Amino acid sequence: MATNRNYIAGEWIEGTDINRNLNPSNTNDVVGEYARSSRQQAETAIEAAAAAAPAWAAATPQQRADALDMIGSEILARKDELGRLLSREEGKTLPEGIGEAMRAGQIFRFFAAEAVRVPGEKIASVRQGVDVEITREPVGVVGLITPWNFPIAIPAWKIAPALAYGNCVVFKPADLVPGCAWALSEIIARSGLPEGVFNLVMGRGSEVGEAILNSPKVAAVSFTGSVETGRKVALAAVSRGAKVQLEMGGKNPLVVLDDADLGTAVGTAVNGAFFSTGQRCTASSRLVVTQGIHDRFVGAMVEKLKTLKIDDALKQGTDIGPVVDQNQLDQDLRYLEIGRKEGAMLAVGGERLNRDTPGYYLSPALFTDTHNQMRINREEIFGPVASVVRVKDYEEALAVANDTDFGLSSGICTTSLKYASHFKRHSQAGMVMVNLPTAGVDYHVPFGGRKGSSYGPREQGRYAAEFYTTVKTAYTLA
Ligand code: NAD
Repeated sequence: MATNRNYIAGEWIEGTDINRNLNPSNTNDVVGEYARSSRQQAETAIEAAAAAAPAWAAATPQQRADALDMIGSEILARKDELGRLLSREEGKTLPEGIGEAMRAGQIFRFFAAEAVRVPGEKIASVRQGVDVEITREPVGVVGLITPWNFPIAIPAWKIAPALAYGNCVVFKPADLVPGCAWALSEIIARSGLPEGVFNLVMGRGSEVGEAILNSPKVAAVSFTGSVETGRKVALAAVSRGAKVQLEMGGKNPLVVLDDADLGTAVGTAVNGAFFSTGQRCTASSRLVVTQGIHDRFVGAMVEKLKTLKIDDALKQGTDIGPVVDQNQLDQDLRYLEIGRKEGAMLAVGGERLNRDTPGYYLSPALFTDTHNQMRINREEIFGPVASVVRVKDYEEALAVANDTDFGLSSGICTTSLKYASHFKRHSQAGMVMVNLPTAGVDYHVPFGGRKGSSYGPREQGRYAAEFYTTVKTAYTLA
């Protein structure tokens, strides 16, 4: 099996070690072998990006738009194949994998268009005979560090705006999912970008990641991952004055009110909490349910969860694929034990399942009789595990929803305009959904959260310009 290499300074370069990428639906299936790199190789990539930065900053918007459009179009044309690779290496179902690949293509196409409309302003000066112009310029070399759970969409939503606004990129994907990162990079490598503008360095956070964080040549770091790593990233970047953007965990509430349509509430909760195996930063892990609908909601959830098919991500008809790896499975099982010890009732699921192939299968677990101070309701589990918190009324539901260290996404199921409007206004989250799952967003609008979930400017849509550009104010004596 040939090893898929790093892409540094326009060339495909061997790593210092090899990473065998295993399929979580079938651990006998090796998806591929990928380079794992040293700190030194990351530094070489950073040098290459720094060398390419002045020319790329001066490239025409058309040149950037053409490259991004070519990348986006190829991803869309190959969405089935890329989606399949994604499902095979990460374990989300094939329709979810294809959907994510499509999203990556759409993001590149969106930023291709943004590249030709980089905004600026001309404002009248307060002084006689002076012109004032405000322009946006590239930041320079940006380091992009991504997690395993959206192995093509998250890289896309960092790489595309970075390039659109004229920056050079050093991309470090999660060690668990090099396959999609490599496939995406291979497409980018053929898009006509000058050498050094885009670099892929695969490897561990402690080697490649830290080289990016600590290099004085990296002007900005965009990170998505856990809170624990995010803190390290922030400290390292801030201590040397680099720009930093963090997207981290969530403990997202979905409020279900007495007046909700039961079918909508159950569909919304099952999708938000358990699809993509619950491994979404925006997953609805806390279901905050008012007492009048509580028993009917729990009953319907249990019935629905029993009907879901948990199996190989690539099999037709699978609703929920496996957990991503043994570590994550151990974490899920540990939290199931913690929940039981805290006195929560496991209404359904939480069982390790055997299927035709060796994989990390776990049935979706729903806890009831929980309260919001339990660890299972405060800490991110990141698996197919959700809790129901019973509350008296809307006011208590809102208070419980907001009583968390996180603030990424939140949702409410209600037929009341009054409560929906109040919740949209008072929910302490970066994204709020009404009668829609807390996970599942558009690609052309800002994405991000508050409190412990996020730090720095928003990602995606036109708001991405805030992070990937620096503002200049120029004065001219007319
Ligand atoms: P992680 O923090 O373990 O790793 C994220 C990335 O950081 C990986 O590429 C990893 O190799 C790298 N890394 C690890 N140690 C590093 C170090 N010392 N220096 C530099 N880089 C280092 O996260 P994960 O397990 O890959 O992803 C799951 C987490 O990501 C969850 O907490 C989830 O909520 C979060 N997430 C957040 C969002 C969001 O937008 N808010 C989206 C997806 C996932």
